[in-house]
Amino acid sequence: MASLEALPILLKELRLSTIGKCWEALAQQALDGQWLPQQYLAALCEEEVNERYQQRLKRYLHEAQLPAGKRLSHFDFSAVHGIKANQVKALVEQPQWVKQAHNLLLFGPSGIGKTHLACGIAAGLLEKGFRAKFFSATALVQQLQQAKEKLLLAEMLLRLDRYEVLLLDDIGYVKKSNQETQVLFELIAHRYETGSLIITSNHPFSEWGQIFEDNMMTVAAIDRLVHHATILECQGESYRRQSAMNRRQN
Ligand code: ADP
Ligand code: MG
Repeated sequence: MASLEALPILLKELRLSTIGKCWEALAQQALDGQWLPQQYLAALCEEEVNERYQQRLKRYLHEAQLPAGKRLSHFDFSAVHGIKANQVKALVEQPQWVKQAHNLLLFGPSGIGKTHLACGIAAGLLEKGFRAKFFSATALVQQLQQAKEKLLLAEMLLRLDRYEVLLLDDIGYVKKSNQETQVLFELIAHRYETGSLIITSNHPFSEWGQIFEDNMMTVAAIDRLVHHATILECQGESYRRQSAMNRRQN
């Protein structure tokens, strides 16, 4: 039988730091409650797993760089038409689409809540254990372009593969120079069937000719994006305008 003195060292060796912190207190509870040995073991494992989950979630939230406060719990679904709360929540509760590297496209006018929804869904997916990262589409295109100039584009695309979900916010605002659209296209082609994209845009596909100068490129990009995609079309009044008007009336 192993000696009790060795326990802290064994736990450290196995990197079970949470169990290291709680085994004594739980041992007392187990004695008091007359737990079976295996119940005590299960309780210890549960503590370790829960703590690891919390630490991982903290890390994922930090690296995701989601704008603060944009959670589904703060989203008023009655203020927007064309989408249903259940449909949006199912994207988080049943995240097979992420495992299958499918995409999510959110369209609608400015101020309707696309960024909020996209971030809320991404935050929910982080809680499910996926890694995600938020980018303003303009900023990401700039970063990709800089990487390309240094012949590091392939490397950057591979680095982004660690995220199961990339959120590209406001793709319509990306400038239209050929070089910029080229890298965006390379990203879309690279992620195709290997990683999910969540994209928000004020422009419906019919106007995407303005985003990608090259028409062939537009067709190819749309083709890949929609091949496996959920499309949410948000309709109605800008939430920003609605709340400004409500404030004025009160
Ligand atoms: P969009 O990306 O469509 O331009 P945003 O998501 O940026 O719109 O929304 C504008 C502002 O209004 C944000 O502060 C957002 O949190 C808030 N907002 C938009 N729609 C809703 C909603 N239905 N419920 C709660 N807040 C909302
Ligand atoms: Mg937005």
